[in-house]
Amino acid sequence: MRIAGVLGALLVGGLNVASSQVLVNNTDEPTLYTYCQQFQTLYTQIRVESITPDSARMQFSRIMLSLRERFRSEENYHQDSLQRDSLIQTGSYFSFPLRGYPTSAIGGTHGEGYRGNGFDLFDYNVRGSHPAQDIFITDRNQDNLDDRTGQPADVLAMSSGLVLAIETAWKPGSEYRGGNWIWVYDPVLNGLFYYAHNSQVDVSPGQWVQAGQKISEMGRTGFNAYKARSPTHLHLMYLQIQPNGLPLPVNTYAWLLKAKPVN
Ligand SMILES: [Zn+2]
Repeated sequence: MRIAGVLGALLVGGLNVASSQVLVNNTDEPTLYTYCQQFQTLYTQIRVESITPDSARMQFSRIMLSLRERFRSEENYHQDSLQRDSLIQTGSYFSFPLRGYPTSAIGGTHGEGYRGNGFDLFDYNVRGSHPAQDIFITDRNQDNLDDRTGQPADVLAMSSGLVLAIETAWKPGSEYRGGNWIWVYDPVLNGLFYYAHNSQVDVSPGQWVQAGQKISEMGRTGFNAYKARSPTHLHLMYLQIQPNGLPLPVNTYAWLLKAKPVN
């Protein structure tokens, strides 16, 4: 994919070389990795409720507006916006986030697992919404392996982006619901993908991932996902960043139906 390739090449250069040499004119400007650290810290504070929802909202907005500005300064971002829109419309922008699976792995028959109302990223006590699609494998003995293949199911990046934050230390008994999760920022869409309940995370904050690249293996981590009544699945959420820097959940069902299958 050309857009992602160009952006990715720029980013990788920016991350590997001292950031002041490539992407940054003002040496006081934070590196991309700094934003990853800020996001990781903030999300952890939200989870343990050591920050008020209002403060969290302000910090989140500041980080996301800074990230958008950083990527807007890349020349290719504007040049490719038309191509981006056509790629999104035809579906070829996205890769199906589970290797070797068809769209029938999406929960429900018409994606009705999505319930966006009442979602608040900044208040960990707010429950009841499910602004996400769940994608399932057949795993009757709940060992994280697909019963058909005896293999783990590879979770793939739906689009190219910057890995912002990860969790890898979830343990059974933990009340945290996402388990081992990954946040990826897509600078072309200016949005965030969240992949939850992984058994194993294969990427690190600051890393650029390409659409269709393996980022983790599906698992059963998370307070509810670990329970026997929960079939093994990937929880996939997308948050569109609005002009004020705040997130709005978007149903990915239409994108998933059109996404490129990866084998
Ligand atoms: Zn879910």
